Amino acid sequence: MGMTARQQAIQAIASTYHQLDNLDFRTEHIKDLFGVNVFHEEEQKARLPKPVFKALQKTIKLGVPLDPTVADAVASAMKDWALEHGATHYTHLFQPMTGLTAEKHDSFLTPTGTGGGLAEFSGKELVKGEPDASSFPSGGIRATFEARGYTGWDPTSPAYLRETPNGATLVIPTVFVSWTGEALDKKTPLLRSMEALSTQALRILRLFGNSDAKKVFTTVGPEQEYFLIDKNFLYARPDLLNAGRTLFGAKPPKGQELEDQYFGTIPERVIACMADAEAEMFKLGIPVKTRHNEVAPSQYEIAPIFEDSNLATDHNQLTMDVLRRTAEKYDLVCLMHEKPFAGINGSGKHNNWSMSTDTGENLLNPGDTPHDNAQFLVYCVAVIRAVAKYPELLRVSVASAGNDHRLGANEAPPAIISIFLGDQLQDVMDQLERSDLKSTKQGGFMEVGVSVLPKLPKDAGDRNRTSPFAFTGNKFEFRAVGSSFSISGPNVVLNTIAAESMDFIATKLEADTKGGKPLAKAIQDLLPGILKESKKVVFNGDGYSDEWHKEAEKRGLPNLKNTVDAIPTLIAKSTVDLFAKYKVLSERELNARYTIFCESYVKTVNIEANLMVSMGKTMILPAALRYQGQVATAVNAAKAAGVDATAQVDHLKELTSTLTTFQKALAALEKAHGHHADGTPYDHAKHFRDHVLPKMTDLRTAADTLETMVADDLWPLPTYQEMLFIK
Ligand code: ADP
Ligand code: MG
Repeated sequence: MGMTARQQAIQAIASTYHQLDNLDFRTEHIKDLFGVNVFHEEEQKARLPKPVFKALQKTIKLGVPLDPTVADAVASAMKDWALEHGATHYTHLFQPMTGLTAEKHDSFLTPTGTGGGLAEFSGKELVKGEPDASSFPSGGIRATFEARGYTGWDPTSPAYLRETPNGATLVIPTVFVSWTGEALDKKTPLLRSMEALSTQALRILRLFGNSDAKKVFTTVGPEQEYFLIDKNFLYARPDLLNAGRTLFGAKPPKGQELEDQYFGTIPERVIACMADAEAEMFKLGIPVKTRHNEVAPSQYEIAPIFEDSNLATDHNQLTMDVLRRTAEKYDLVCLMHEKPFAGINGSGKHNNWSMSTDTGENLLNPGDTPHDNAQFLVYCVAVIRAVAKYPELLRVSVASAGNDHRLGANEAPPAIISIFLGDQLQDVMDQLERSDLKSTKQGGFMEVGVSVLPKLPKDAGDRNRTSPFAFTGNKFEFRAVGSSFSISGPNVVLNTIAAESMDFIATKLEADTKGGKPLAKAIQDLLPGILKESKKVVFNGDGYSDEWHKEAEKRGLPNLKNTVDAIPTLIAKSTVDLFAKYKVLSERELNARYTIFCESYVKTVNIEANLMVSMGKTMILPAALRYQGQVATAVNAAKAAGVDATAQVDHLKELTSTLTTFQKALAALEKAHGHHADGTPYDHAKHFRDHVLPKMTDLRTAADTLETMVADDLWPLPTYQEMLFIK
């Protein structure tokens, strides 16, 4: 008998020697690595004529439109720098609605026409590209006009070099829009939302007498979770290979119950891989800071130092890319799926978010003076109001078929959006709210502009992991984001809803102060009402508990349990009005995104259903039938030998009955999946949720029971135990 793919995988792992010292930080210092592959400010300064450098910096730092004559000079310097570092090609990197990045490479080479060649790169080529990108999801935007999409240089995210085995490619971060100027990507709305937020946040700063700050931007530090398992297992698991998660697999004897993985020692091969990936990230200017083991076996986390949200988004995409590619060098595979393995924790991405001025002031940092505290309270209450007003939008920003397996599964925040403030800040907010009640007897209320806040503790760890949106000392942490997501979507929503709240507050305060009211008094009069209206979204208890679910229902908080429930929010009137008002997404763009969300959900579940049917038929069923044959033969032999075979007969009966259940479930899934629902993309999504997913669950249950019965040497799929613990 030949070996099964599973046995081959294990043998390959056991017999492979891994080179783990490709990189030695004793000779290669991290400080020398940082940013070497980035066309950063210092590099620009050294290479550009002074006026060009100044003009470019104005665009980067203040968003001033770029003078077209400057582009040629920048392109030329960029090209020289790139060629010196072994680049042969350049690419406009964009972020289509797949949530991944896309690129097409062009050579710098231009034939002279007289036999020679020149390396050329013009401002025009830097600023605008036209990839043949007709196959990216557009949600119908391009189909109705023409298939063209354009990329446009984003000077606020620096160009960099991607090293290849033979040289390098110059990568230029870009937006991706249709010829009518509509966003086809994830970067365009993010940049628009940052601008909207800046405008509104500045109005409040001005009220506080700040005339220095020219811009406010949001800062983001995404903590990225992922799994690393041996690559050989991937080849033996069509589900992991094609869907990124296991669609079958019985619970292993040992899971994460011993809690021996979290913050444990990182295995040698994994730490070598991490170090290698980090070196790559340092070179790309990604400020990676922490790494550790996560809760589930073979699960890890990496977190950078926060950056402005545009750069943080680009860098998070790059981080995922570098992790995936580096893992391969070590015969590992990096799983970014939200739930690669049932029964143990899935992976998320904590989106730490705050607002900062261009002069470096964190607006969500409580200050030491009453004046600073008052300003902090205004911004903080604005965020609370935003979350209370638009919880459905935050929910849909983290909706995907993959994240549905994780949210609300007692390992990640529930689908109910709420805010955790912590004891101290809650106390402050309570006092502030009470100060509005003339009959207050409790005493000790906050007087804005006079009182000093107590020192708010910085959340050192994950003190309340059960909250989807937690205040952690000087920032908010949005914890419901899925590990494979582009963080753009969640931040577009955060920025836009915060902008709306700050607009609301600034408008009131401006009117009041113009009318002669002192600012502190105006704030004192305004905030209690907002808090009263918004406090239903504040919850400091255990978000996993049943009581909270009941309580949330009483409070009237939305509980959009899955993606299909959440998607309609994208085209609700309140959403359309909000995004139109702040010019972040037009109705057409929202409609397109709505369609893309539906289609992406359908495609994901469709692929999974296909895989389950094919694996069920060609891998699991044959193994189970072979085993059934062996047992039947044994039973007959025992009977022929004249011994009591009751137990063997019982086993055969049980096996056969499970096998029958399995085959029925397989047929039911095929039927549900084959049934083609007419109607809109949303109808399709509903069909997959209501009719296909439950059949997938049934099939899995039967298959996982078979896995615990069929002879181990016949079982074709690497088991959970093997994938999670063989390293
Ligand atoms: P914790 O107390 O949760 O461990 P850390 O300070 O270690 O928090 O931060 C976790 C993540 O939050 C890091 O990526 C960090 O850079 C980011 N972070 C810290 N401050 C801010 C901020 N002002 N804005 C955005 N992200 C921030
Ligand atoms: Mg955290």
